[in-house]
Amino acid sequence: MACHYYFDMGTTTSDTIFSKIIRGEIPCHRVYEDDHVLAFLDINPIAYGHTLVIPKQAAATLDRMSDEAGAAVGRVLPRLARAVMEASGCSAYNVLQNNGGLAHQAVMHVHFHIIPKPATTGVGHGVGLGIGWPSGKLDAAEAKELIEKIKIALRR
Ligand code: AMP
Repeated sequence: MACHYYFDMGTTTSDTIFSKIIRGEIPCHRVYEDDHVLAFLDINPIAYGHTLVIPKQAAATLDRMSDEAGAAVGRVLPRLARAVMEASGCSAYNVLQNNGGLAHQAVMHVHFHIIPKPATTGVGHGVGLGIGWPSGKLDAAEAKELIEKIKIALRR
């Protein structure tokens, strides 16, 4: 059976293409699996070695993950990054994690991209992630106010 790709806004989080992959209803190019985490090759890689790491918990975005699912992903990310770097021969890489359609999330099941950043482009292989970084300057008064707001939110 061939792999499928489509923009998957999902009707429920357990209905996305990644939940179907977790349940074995759709195939994937699996590179790692444990009780809480699955990693597989991205079907439309932007670099050789482009890998996706997902929790088995059907959370749409990072902020909806349980602490346990987050810890499970965090525990294996460094090991997976090392393995992808070794396999791709790249020493630089990006970890990308999009949340929400506005932030370019296409599949509404939380996922972490490990994207090697090649020094040169091989034939048929992508160049990795290009990043626009429209930075500003942090205002001290604004920073103080912002810290308070985040602290209040963290207490909830
Ligand atoms: P994002 O824009 O962060 O939601 O990225 C979703 C990623 O999922 C894209 O890079 C897709 O190429 C990838 N993708 C979608 N469907 C599949 C699939 N069936 N197997 C592997 N990767 C997929």
